[in-house]
Amino acid sequence: MPKTQDCHVCGSESAAVYKKAIPTDIKLKGFKKFTVECPSWECKSCGEIYGGKKENAVLYEKIAQEKAKQLANKVKASEITSLTLAAKMLHMSRQAVHKAVKKGQINYVLIGNQMCPIIKDIEHYAETRTA
Ligand SMILES: [Zn+2]
Repeated sequence: MPKTQDCHVCGSESAAVYKKAIPTDIKLKGFKKFTVECPSWECKSCGEIYGGKKENAVLYEKIAQEKAKQLANKVKASEITSLTLAAKMLHMSRQAVHKAVKKGQINYVLIGNQMCPIIKDIEHYAETRTA
C-alpha cells in the first residue's frame, strides 16, 4: 500500500501519494540550473506535486548541498570561515549556526567533511536576521 494523504491542494480524500524522489528543477540567481530529487506528495486527482514541512526541509538541504558544490569552484579560501568563527560573528551557538547553514540560510562550501560558511553570507544573514 502506498502512503497517501488528503490532497493539500484540492482536498481530494487520500488522493495524494507519497513519492520518495521526484526530480525538481531549481533555478537560482548566480547558479547553474540543477535538479534535485526530493520526497513529495503527488495528487492523483489534480496532478499537483507538493511537499510538507518535512519534505521541504529535505529539499532545502539538497539545494544547499548543490550550491556548496557549485560554490566550491568560485570561492577563495579567504572568503570562508569555520562554523566556530561564524558562531562568534553571529553571537549564536555553533549548533544554531550549523542548522542555519544546513538549511541553506547561509551559503557554505565543503572542505573535507567540514562545512565552511561564506563570510559575506554570514554578514548578510546577520543583517536580515536583525532587520
Ligand atoms: Zn489534489
